[in-house]
Amino acid sequence: MQIRLYNTMTRKVEDFVPITPNHVGFYNCGPTVYWDQHLGNMRTFFNGDMIKRMFLANGYTVTHVMNFTDVGHLTSDEDTGEDKMEKGAARENMSVWDIANKYIKSCLTDMDLLNIIRPTHMPRATDHIKEQIELIQKLEKLGFTYEIPGDGIYYDTSKLSDYGKLGGQNLSELRGGARIENNNKRNITDFALWKFSPTDVKRQMEWDSPWGVGFPGWHLECSAMSMKYLGDHFDIHSGGQEHIKVHHTNEIAQSEPVVGKPWVHYWVHWAWLMLRDGKMAKSSGSFFTVRGLIEKGYDPMAFRYLLLQGHYRQPMEFSFESLDAAAAGYKNMVRKIADLMAAGDTEPVNQDLYNEWHDKILTPISDNLKTAETLVVVQDMLKNQTINPATKLSLLDFVDDLLGLQLRDRANKLRAAESETAPAEIQEMATKRADAKKNRDFALADELRAKIDSAGWTVTDIPGGFKLVKKQ
Ligand code: AMP
Ligand code: ZN
Repeated sequence: MQIRLYNTMTRKVEDFVPITPNHVGFYNCGPTVYWDQHLGNMRTFFNGDMIKRMFLANGYTVTHVMNFTDVGHLTSDEDTGEDKMEKGAARENMSVWDIANKYIKSCLTDMDLLNIIRPTHMPRATDHIKEQIELIQKLEKLGFTYEIPGDGIYYDTSKLSDYGKLGGQNLSELRGGARIENNNKRNITDFALWKFSPTDVKRQMEWDSPWGVGFPGWHLECSAMSMKYLGDHFDIHSGGQEHIKVHHTNEIAQSEPVVGKPWVHYWVHWAWLMLRDGKMAKSSGSFFTVRGLIEKGYDPMAFRYLLLQGHYRQPMEFSFESLDAAAAGYKNMVRKIADLMAAGDTEPVNQDLYNEWHDKILTPISDNLKTAETLVVVQDMLKNQTINPATKLSLLDFVDDLLGLQLRDRANKLRAAESETAPAEIQEMATKRADAKKNRDFALADELRAKIDSAGWTVTDIPGGFKLVKKQ
């Protein structure tokens, strides 16, 4: 099937043509590990997972790289401000190294809960200082660097004729008008490749380099590590939409002079997850995590289902009302699948119908990742009376691989819960509750329902009695 993707570089949806047939080299900018990853970060990693699953379903092999930024870059795009890692370490009274380990672990836990397939490589910036220094040396040889004494080694953006092409930025406009925070820079767009450690404070993370003790500039790691794991030229580079104008622009500036053009064939950018009053961000300090959703009683798959209903190029507003609606939609789907399983495989899989619906499901998602449209086709398939249960269940296995919704697993759990008989004391309480209702003692009935509920069972009235189902 022809895959199409929106390429930020050309501002068009394009047919995807791989560098190596049936293979994709894909880099998704990963997190800075100074805090938990919020649901917005997760939307970005989920999108990376979806693009990968779409390629896998189309018969490609995928080398997926996501970095962990564990070296502190400075909080502003201007190479000034506080070091996020050191800030995290001070907040929790831990070393920077321990903070990095702690939050890499929590990020992986949340990714697993959201059923994100682990990337093929997850390199840490601090394990690749050598590669970053070598890249600066190559740029130095080509005449792209200059030193600001006592500050660092900078990239001279005036040396690159097409600097800013990714964001469609006009350099002279960019240079004029704006205030230069660092007055020693030659151009406002210049950025640090290597920062010297301050002389008055001892940094926890610093390394020797040919230019002096210090630490790498924050754009450098993604250039160095993507090329190490994917080669000098690769297919897709992605990240949050805010990376277009600075981070990815600077990655291109660092890489193309060294390896030639184009360095990356498709640039893909993910829109944000928003809160009513703005972007969900770590810096605001109030944010939700996947583990937080579980604590509130949500299945992480309800959040995945919600994300699938949006499009990666459109911002999505997160609210608990929309999550509740997604949770209900997801549960409804699981219910239908459990019923299909109960119906049994009386007839064999109809191969023609399987092929027809397989392609119907795969078509929208392969066209610039239209996940919501694919979800609609899956719902249509479930409703369709001409497809027998065995064929539907086979298609659902394909859907589980494609969308990562763990539908079979949840349907199995639902069936197991429904077939379990409640212990005698729960049965007894439910009988008492039914009697209380008959006697119109609703207060007692409510009290007993709450007791049954807190014991982990749900009681529902059915004609002629009640049904007890173990809560999941
Ligand atoms: P950070 O740790 O802030 O560098 O973020 C890690 C990744 O998550 C980056 O690719 C960001 O673009 C992305 N990201 C941060 N906030 C959001 C958000 N609210 N919605 C979607 N993606 C986000
Ligand atoms: Zn990056």
